[in-house]
Amino acid sequence: MKLINFRFETDADGIALATWDMPERSMNVITPEVMAELKAIIDKVASDEAIKGCVITSGKDQFSGGADLTMLQGLGMEYAKLVKTKGEEAAMSYFFEESRKLSLLFRALETCGKPFAAAVNGVCLGGAFELVLACHHRVISDDAKTRVGLPEVKVGLFPGAGGTQRVARLMQTGDALQMLFKGEQIKPLPARSMGLVHQVVAKDAIVETAKAWIKAGGSAIAPWDDKGFKLPSNKVHSAVGMQIWPPANAIYRRETQGNYPAAQAILSAVYEGLQVPMDLGLRIESRYFAKILRSTEAAMMIRTLFMSMQDLNKGARRPKAEPATAIKTVGVVGAGFMGAGVAYVTANAGMNVILVDRDQEAADKGKAYSHKLMSDQIMKGRAKTADREALLERITATADYSALSACDLIIEAVFEDPKVKDEVIRKIESHIKPGTIFASNTSTLPITGLAKSSKAADRFIGIHFFSPVEKMMLVEIIMGKKTGDAALAMAIDYVRAIKKTPIVVNDARGFFANRCVLGYIAEGYEMLLEGVPPAMIEAAGKQAGMPVGPLSLNDEIALDLGLKIMKATEVQLGPKSIDQRQKALLIEMVEKLGRIGRKAKKGFYDYPEGAPKRLWPDLVKLQPTHLKPEQVDMQTLKNRLLAIQALEAARTVEEGVVTDPREADVGSILGFGFAPYTGGTLSYIEGMGHARFVEMCTRLAKAYGARFKPNKHLIEMAKSGGSYYAKQKKAA
Ligand code: NAD
Repeated sequence: MKLINFRFETDADGIALATWDMPERSMNVITPEVMAELKAIIDKVASDEAIKGCVITSGKDQFSGGADLTMLQGLGMEYAKLVKTKGEEAAMSYFFEESRKLSLLFRALETCGKPFAAAVNGVCLGGAFELVLACHHRVISDDAKTRVGLPEVKVGLFPGAGGTQRVARLMQTGDALQMLFKGEQIKPLPARSMGLVHQVVAKDAIVETAKAWIKAGGSAIAPWDDKGFKLPSNKVHSAVGMQIWPPANAIYRRETQGNYPAAQAILSAVYEGLQVPMDLGLRIESRYFAKILRSTEAAMMIRTLFMSMQDLNKGARRPKAEPATAIKTVGVVGAGFMGAGVAYVTANAGMNVILVDRDQEAADKGKAYSHKLMSDQIMKGRAKTADREALLERITATADYSALSACDLIIEAVFEDPKVKDEVIRKIESHIKPGTIFASNTSTLPITGLAKSSKAADRFIGIHFFSPVEKMMLVEIIMGKKTGDAALAMAIDYVRAIKKTPIVVNDARGFFANRCVLGYIAEGYEMLLEGVPPAMIEAAGKQAGMPVGPLSLNDEIALDLGLKIMKATEVQLGPKSIDQRQKALLIEMVEKLGRIGRKAKKGFYDYPEGAPKRLWPDLVKLQPTHLKPEQVDMQTLKNRLLAIQALEAARTVEEGVVTDPREADVGSILGFGFAPYTGGTLSYIEGMGHARFVEMCTRLAKAYGARFKPNKHLIEMAKSGGSYYAKQKKAA
């Protein structure tokens, strides 16, 4: 047996140990070669009489992250080729057989007649955990980093190598569906109580414990292959079963709005699979898997949420020639809402923070926020008191600017006022050492303009956080006209150090994310003014896949801020730059009625104490006209709400604000929750095809206004059949 990716040895007791340890890879992944070797191992164990059973473990710190997604993508390409050469049926038949190879391999392991036990340490996810689930006995380590789970649904797929069938036979159906829908990484003890694994032991003892189970006569028959097997939630068509499925369907619809075919496939595969024996159940699962694998949603989600996200997190946009930076101390100036959050995430990543505000009291207040966040973590059992003390130790709160001399990077988060910023930048620069990189967290002021207050515009950059800082995973890095590579390199290194995802954009009003999301909010105003019932506007937003409706988002951000931005835009760019009817609506809400949003407990919604928020009943009185629900087409509302954002993203590409499509896609999902099933703003366009998108926008422009007019670059691409990702493909 020639093995490259595994080591295989048999001990004196006749128990084999297959150690998965791929050369030149930091992490094991399932590839065609791994599958071939695993098959050889199964055959060997099954046929060699001297071998009693086999333990599978990993030779690395982690078990494995699962299947190589590029392998699955390759399958899709092969399918597309075959459709052209041999027709749809032959292509589909090839695709089905290929896409279920892993499932058949794991089933072969499960039914080979010899007991297999898994000994797992570290991360074990996706296809790798499906391998483990196929083993007759599962031992995992109690190490703090050990996690098991089936996260496929997060990239638009679902566990297609037996995961849906085995999980649903191991635990109550409701729990199984939840686990498969959420795709969470599960810690060792919860994994054991859920019935996913049998034993949790010390890291050093996993292999011996797994071997001991085989030695003690562990059975080579999976519970579901035993004649007496009963489903944990009884039969699907039983009184108990019928208590599960109607609510399960309702929860699925509520959570996905029917936008995620993979989630629906999970529901169907479990529902149908539990009514038949295991082999047939696996075949049903495979059918759904092949269908989902070919879906646009899976293709787009894999590209954005797996490939692109990984690239950006690894620093794809970092200038290669710049030497690695060592950021030890970061100065955060302005300890308000944002500064306090920035101080926390920075100290949490192990860096020292000098937190400066106008007086000691304000600086201390900013530091107290870290105390609060860490105390919340302690309450939830996620941190220890000592962790909080160590983190607070790293933050120096002061009103003394001279303390900033120790910093490698400055992030200013003072009031959004050009005069205040100008003064603060000059003052800071009189205290910092030469070479320090200076970043502003401004959300609206051009970086190129702010850089004029600096002595070194090449070291001046924007690092734009989203609120709440500790929760939002995106950071926009903004390049001023003169910003140099050293500043960009340090900004990216910093964002990576705090474990957030950086996107790099060029300086322009609203940068990228805010600019796109403003269109979403404004479309909500437009619909109100057209007389669309408010509840339908909100429902359309959610059904389109946005986390909240446009009116709700408005309340969260605060209407007074929206009005302020609108007025500032009008002052700078003239009365035609904004919509006067929208402004009048906001003036009514903010200045006349004081309904500024959630922070005042009244906005487009009411926020009654101890009860869920509800749309403000009198909002309809502010609408100049009213449409009856039957006069409104929901699909058009949904199209408008997504298209307006996607169009803005397309414009940022044409204007050179965004230069890499991965950043627009990842940025739109992480920054403002743009319908994740689409793969992001640009992938939404590509998923439906440029020509169709242009045609739809042209129709919308005729009916609703010039804001829907497709831009030139988009029209050109629709004609030429181009792609935003063409450059990326070439580079690869
Ligand atoms: P904030 O009013 O909560 O905090 C500003 C802080 O700056 C206050 O603590 C104030 O005392 C301090 N400050 C003012 N002048 C100072 C000076 N001369 N020296 C030292 N400290 C001074 O404001 P915020 O919401 O935290 O916003 C700060 C910056 O972050 C702004 O540029 C804003 O545009 C940007 N931003 C805000 C958000 C958001 O959601 N609030 C999101 C992204 C970016």
